[in-house]
Amino acid sequence: MTKSSTPGLLLRGATLLTMDSVLGDITDGDLRIEAGRITAVGKSLAARPGDEVIDAHGMLALPGLIDTHTHMWQGPLKGLGAAMWGMADYHQHIFSLREKLSAEDMHDAAFATGVEMLDNGITTVLDFCHNVMSQAHAARSIDAHRKTGQRVLFCYGMLGNLQTLEADHAWRLAQVRSLGADMDASPDALVRLGMALGSLEYTGLEMFEVEARIARELGLPMSFHQNVAGQVHQLEAAGLLGPDLLPVHCNPALDAELALLASHGCGISFTPESEVGDGRSTRVMARAHRAGVTPSLGIDVPSRVALDLFSQMRLTFWLIRNEEAEAERAAGRWPLTRYPGVPFIQPRHLLEYVTVNAARAVGLGDQLGRIAPGCIADVILLRPGAYSPSLGDPAAHVVLQSTTADVDTVIVGGRVRKREGHLLDVARSDAVAATRRMRERLFS
Ligand SMILES: [Zn+2]
Repeated sequence: MTKSSTPGLLLRGATLLTMDSVLGDITDGDLRIEAGRITAVGKSLAARPGDEVIDAHGMLALPGLIDTHTHMWQGPLKGLGAAMWGMADYHQHIFSLREKLSAEDMHDAAFATGVEMLDNGITTVLDFCHNVMSQAHAARSIDAHRKTGQRVLFCYGMLGNLQTLEADHAWRLAQVRSLGADMDASPDALVRLGMALGSLEYTGLEMFEVEARIARELGLPMSFHQNVAGQVHQLEAAGLLGPDLLPVHCNPALDAELALLASHGCGISFTPESEVGDGRSTRVMARAHRAGVTPSLGIDVPSRVALDLFSQMRLTFWLIRNEEAEAERAAGRWPLTRYPGVPFIQPRHLLEYVTVNAARAVGLGDQLGRIAPGCIADVILLRPGAYSPSLGDPAAHVVLQSTTADVDTVIVGGRVRKREGHLLDVARSDAVAATRRMRERLFS
């Protein structure tokens, strides 16, 4: 059977937010999916015999949302971090629970969190799994990811028990090597391996360098928490910066450090709600964007942040706009007026953060995050809401009006995972049961 005769999936009549610089937005547009990839995008595509056709009239089609930093083991701990104040609260009430989680808890947490994210239109996540307390913790997390069908970059956490970091380093690295040899690293693989490097402030540069060298040897994308001032300069001096290394947060980064990251083709994963919750300054986001660092977004700590990228986009947009307005007022330019470059941030930028930028951050920049021929077929359909759609730019509608309740259809790798608001293949009730099991084991 030739590829052109393979039965496909045809989405008809949507407003396509392709996020592709050539294709742009297409009203009343169609897209065809075959063998897990998008094969055609345009108007009035002809259906072929055997095609499944989805009527998407009245809906917005966009690339599946990509989260670049979430600790999925915290999903069932939802609410436990509510209204915390600063990092000390987080360490005392959430981070300290790490040692209490069993491998089965890790499995149930990854499963429950993955299902909820998929339901909410998050087709890809970078699971920053900094709770690998035994080999089984990693293995069972990966088992769970394979059950949800979400696209996952499972970043194996090198930061375990802080008292035994050095003693545990050898078995962690050995397991990374073993997983690296076993797991499918092709772009279409739903679960890929990456490495969550230990934080420099805990591990020191020497261990960090060993981890980065092994990750690069195995071709694994890497990420790390950048929480302490000066670390970007430290990594530059050690020759470790590169587009395969994704820093997270970077709140204390100086402009010179952002320029360094940009020159190395790095992104930054910002987790605005989590960062505001920690009391950090989020002013780095606009500075980084302007400096040429590609921002992406993460939920980070589901123990206090909803598994919802729409709210992260909206919060980020208004945080940056607020900062811009503050700068104008401080400069005596009030009332606000437009002039070239001001305001800088536009709603569509936020969609770029969670699609094209985020695809780069998870190592799939040329294949994911756009609705374009040849791209991996991760697509979501959004209803415009129960009332009226927005006037004007559909990207602004997504960023400023859409909620998770509007997610009608979710397609991952060409497979329909949610249709007309209902998950297929996995059940919400199974995710609820997994959360209940973990809570019973942990708190009884
Ligand atoms: Zn984090």
